[in-house]
Amino acid sequence: MGGPEVERLIALLAKLPGLGPRSARRAALKLLQQPATKMAPLAAAMADAARAVKTCALCGNLDSADPCGICADPRRDRTLICVVEGVGDLWALERAGVHRGLYHILGGTLSALGGTGPDDLSVTPLLTRIGEGGVAEIILALGATVDGAATAHWLTERIKPLGVAVSRVGHGVPIGGALEILDDGTLGAALRARRPV
Ligand SMILES: [Zn+2]
Repeated sequence: MGGPEVERLIALLAKLPGLGPRSARRAALKLLQQPATKMAPLAAAMADAARAVKTCALCGNLDSADPCGICADPRRDRTLICVVEGVGDLWALERAGVHRGLYHILGGTLSALGGTGPDDLSVTPLLTRIGEGGVAEIILALGATVDGAATAHWLTERIKPLGVAVSRVGHGVPIGGALEILDDGTLGAALRARRPV
């Protein structure tokens, strides 16, 4: 139904998080029925974002500027770096407004089963940032999963010898996985409840 263009649109939409085949069909229909007010602005916004957005060379955030708006902001506390698994976690913490320092996106967690080693993550750039000086505390805001805990432990052993304080969020706070699904209040509590390790 609808021809190959429509089938392709539905197939691509169905790959987006939160959209299965059924909701992808509904979204495609909405777009097709309102080409001027829904389809064209969305297509233009996607083309603009695809062209403009890049990865921040310092922290790994996605932003149309590099360094990103957070890294370039002179009001941020540059002595404090919060290490998160993904950009979604950074965005969640920013939405909650609970962290006044900088970030570092790790790109995942170490995983023996998943075959993810230190070289697959942004570990060396993190240690380089710390080695350049001016950092007083690293806050590890990784998920409360087995891999998240193992990664935090592994990082702590490498950061502490550099003479920088390390703290962890989430002990006694129901983090339970991805930070991005937590509400702002819980995120704030998790960050305030961070403990030195
Ligand atoms: Zn940045």
